[in-house]
Amino acid sequence: MKKMMAVVNYAPEKGSVELRELEVPEIGDEDVLLKVENVGVCGSDLHQWTADHSWQVNYPVVLGHEFGGVIARLGKNVHNWNEGDRVVSETAAIIDPHSPMTKAGLYNLDPNRKGFGYGVNGAMTTFVRVPSRCLHQVPANLAFEQACLTEPCCVAYNAVAVNAQIKPGDRVIVLGPGTIGILCAAVAKLCGAHVAIVGLEADRARLNIAKQYGCETIIGDATQWAYATDVMGADVIIDAAGISQTLKIALQLVRPKGQIIKVGWGPQPLNFSLDPLVQKNVTLQGSFSHNWPIWEKVIGLLSTGLLNVQPIIGGVWNLDEWHTAFEKMHKGEVVKSVLKP
Ligand SMILES: [Zn+2]
Repeated sequence: MKKMMAVVNYAPEKGSVELRELEVPEIGDEDVLLKVENVGVCGSDLHQWTADHSWQVNYPVVLGHEFGGVIARLGKNVHNWNEGDRVVSETAAIIDPHSPMTKAGLYNLDPNRKGFGYGVNGAMTTFVRVPSRCLHQVPANLAFEQACLTEPCCVAYNAVAVNAQIKPGDRVIVLGPGTIGILCAAVAKLCGAHVAIVGLEADRARLNIAKQYGCETIIGDATQWAYATDVMGADVIIDAAGISQTLKIALQLVRPKGQIIKVGWGPQPLNFSLDPLVQKNVTLQGSFSHNWPIWEKVIGLLSTGLLNVQPIIGGVWNLDEWHTAFEKMHKGEVVKSVLKP
């Protein structure tokens, strides 16, 4: 059997990631073998590397769930794809077909779902085994360096265009200028909103990148911007910061009858009263992952150029330079690192 190099997260201890030689995976009848062209580094890959993640990981596991590539081999029962097809893959590698959520098309919300990069081997390697139901065609004009970021765009699309109700002219505040925050701001702009994205002093470089999406940027307190028009607060707050505490800020900035969408998460408990939620009659909505129709919409946005991920890509590194790619993103020097196996 042929061998390949892979970025492997091998233990729950901090820093337990290394390049390892693995065998090219066998595929099942419903799978394809995908030759990975590009794979994005996600905040969750970093969290597994620094061991401050809050989800169950099957060690050892190949990292990487934001990827695209070319079909190298087809399973026996895969008839609607061809070798050589350019595709991106959804992240729900294992789903329960009998789950009521799956039957409703919401397999992303099935608690038994297992994803690439933590539940099963991901794409920071040459070949990955992918169930064919996960695949979406990538148009020829969309480069893999961009197409591999379909997944975080889908997270943002679900939060902003599906889970929030935004009307043109709404004032939308995004908390947190990471990949998801910036992409949420970009999608809110597409919905016709006035958008401001909020970060800390240390986020200045990432906020400058967010400016390229036509949104305003705020360091620190966004109260003035939220209350600028009619002194009531912003219509929608998208909380894309990686902690729970920012909900307190969201509750201060949102207008009565407004919406808060929480897409960033962190395991720390809250330590404040939710009374403003009641008093302001606010809708608090979680947003998690994405499903098939969202992927099709986002690929359409990317291939037409309506949504451009180029500004957030801080560089493309070879697989053996994974450590540099992780480090740069971890330090906030780049918004998004991309790997080339
Ligand atoms: Zn991700």
